Amino acid sequence: MQELAGKVALVVGAGSIASGIGNGRATAITFAREGATVICADIDEKAVDETARMIHDEGLRASTVQLDVTDFEAVGRTVSGVIAEHGRIDVLHNNVGINSLGSVVDIDLDEFDRVMRVNLNGAVHTMREVIPHMVGNGGGSIINISSLASLQWGGVSYAAYYASKAALNHITRTTAIEFAPQQVRVNSILPGLIKTPMAANVPGLAESYSSQDIEEMWRTRDRMVPMGRMGEAWDVANAALYLASDRAKYITGIDLVVDGGLNVGRAAV
Ligand code: NAD
Repeated sequence: MQELAGKVALVVGAGSIASGIGNGRATAITFAREGATVICADIDEKAVDETARMIHDEGLRASTVQLDVTDFEAVGRTVSGVIAEHGRIDVLHNNVGINSLGSVVDIDLDEFDRVMRVNLNGAVHTMREVIPHMVGNGGGSIINISSLASLQWGGVSYAAYYASKAALNHITRTTAIEFAPQQVRVNSILPGLIKTPMAANVPGLAESYSSQDIEEMWRTRDRMVPMGRMGEAWDVANAALYLASDRAKYITGIDLVVDGGLNVGRAAV
């Protein structure tokens, strides 16, 4: 049986920063394969069209909307549009996340604010608009994509990113408690080292491995993980599928770490 049959899922950040399969794209495809009607939103219209094309190529349902999550009014229009067309939103998946290099001393302050606005305020905007509809429909599932780097130093000077993801974890927990009586479940996923196009392109990452060669960086990251490999976007998508589905109907307020054991300890290299 399909896990999400009959459900309407809004996946925000459903594109991918470069060609290939990022976490949001894999999740949108997985939700569609499991029977959901998927609305794919992203600031990058071309990227989100590509996600929808992949879903349509499998004969499945998906529509797209171009959306900047920092624009609260645009988020409101998007959510109203989904409600007008489908009558409900059962699953909200917040995948949007950006990185920027710098410690608290050297990051540009406007840049710090931009990262917080995209990674934290963006999720607040979508939850703020979607939760009242979920409450009206008797409940729903919200999944916020955080990072293992919300809990620990991630090896690169990404002060704004770490702070934004840590705040996202906690607003996930507190929102979970506030809306638990109305059966709105709110959980976060903390991916570890995932092999996505973003990891290949993000400023400062390859350099932090003293590596200009991306293949060498991948091999080093594989060796760091107790399970012997980085995760794939599909590993994150499968965790999201679980939290979105009714199998997780008694689970709210958790940080689900998806990292091959890295949170507990690095493999000996
Ligand atoms: P990605 O960059 O491919 O996906 C993020 C998507 O968000 C992109 O399609 C981008 O266009 C979109 N986006 C950016 N700003 C936006 C905005 N203002 N409004 C709407 N959409 C916007 O990256 P990914 O590797 O798929 O990662 C996705 C999530 O997973 C992020 O939240 C990231 O922090 C988290 N994560 C990734 C890893 C990893 O190793 N790849 C590890 C931990 C956490």
